[in-house]
Amino acid sequence: MRMKRVAAVAAAATLALGLAACGGDDADEGTGSGSKSFAAGSTMEKLNKAQKIKIGTKFDQPGFGQKGLSGKPEGFDVEVAKLIVKELGIPADKIEYVETPSKVREDVIVNGTVDLVAATYTINDKRKERIAFAGPYYEAGQNILVKKDDATITGPDSFKDGTKKVCSVTGSTPAEEIKKYVKDVGTQLVLFDTYDKCRDALKGGQVDAVTTDNVILLGYIAKDESSFKLAGENFTKEPYGIGVKKEDNDFRNFVNDTLEKAFNDGSWKKAWDDTAGKFGAELGTAPTVNRY
Ligand code: GLU
Repeated sequence: MRMKRVAAVAAAATLALGLAACGGDDADEGTGSGSKSFAAGSTMEKLNKAQKIKIGTKFDQPGFGQKGLSGKPEGFDVEVAKLIVKELGIPADKIEYVETPSKVREDVIVNGTVDLVAATYTINDKRKERIAFAGPYYEAGQNILVKKDDATITGPDSFKDGTKKVCSVTGSTPAEEIKKYVKDVGTQLVLFDTYDKCRDALKGGQVDAVTTDNVILLGYIAKDESSFKLAGENFTKEPYGIGVKKEDNDFRNFVNDTLEKAFNDGSWKKAWDDTAGKFGAELGTAPTVNRY
């Protein structure tokens, strides 16, 4: 019985891979620039014809999306987005990056300010009410950043006595989660729109800790090793997805196909090794894309 099931799953996987391999290249319908051709009326065709795309990402998160001297954001999210853009047949220099802080991610997808969001964006049911997610393409976990010499904060329970201030970002999952641990949200939880402001507040002593995903915090540690450290272990799971319009199943499928291809051909691992992978976090094995 078990063998049968395994065989069936393997057959389904082979079929899915076969379909993914066909991609848009061989579609009879539709037109497109470069060597790519996509189904008429699809988002893929529209973007390919336009030969440009708008991507929402972070500008302040080293290793994932940080705007540097080049004037363009760099990091794992940016590299994953570039793999999708390449598959659309659009040159990377035709990407317009739009800074997308946590709180506005759903809004910019719904109102069409961007074509997709790649921004340390945790897949969850509440967000799925307004937008759709391809992926996951990585799994992070919430953690806590403290000053290097701090021995008093060792995990989220350290906020329970009400004496420590913790900073996070409006509209993020960690800002919600930490409310379960603080004694008084009003005095202990400080919220900004971006994590770099939390980092600065920690460095300046206005708060005692910053909480968000481990990999974002590891980016800040990598840039300032003498100042910061993580306090304890991850205490949530944060699977990162690519945000797209809720009703656009074809585009979501296309992004999922592209992610699966990248998991298998080494480009996903290279994207990681070139960016966030330098900051001490593990990539792990490729996640299973969730085609809900
Ligand atoms: N992954 C979490 C979220 O999507 C925290 C990181 C962020 O705010 O970008 O809310």
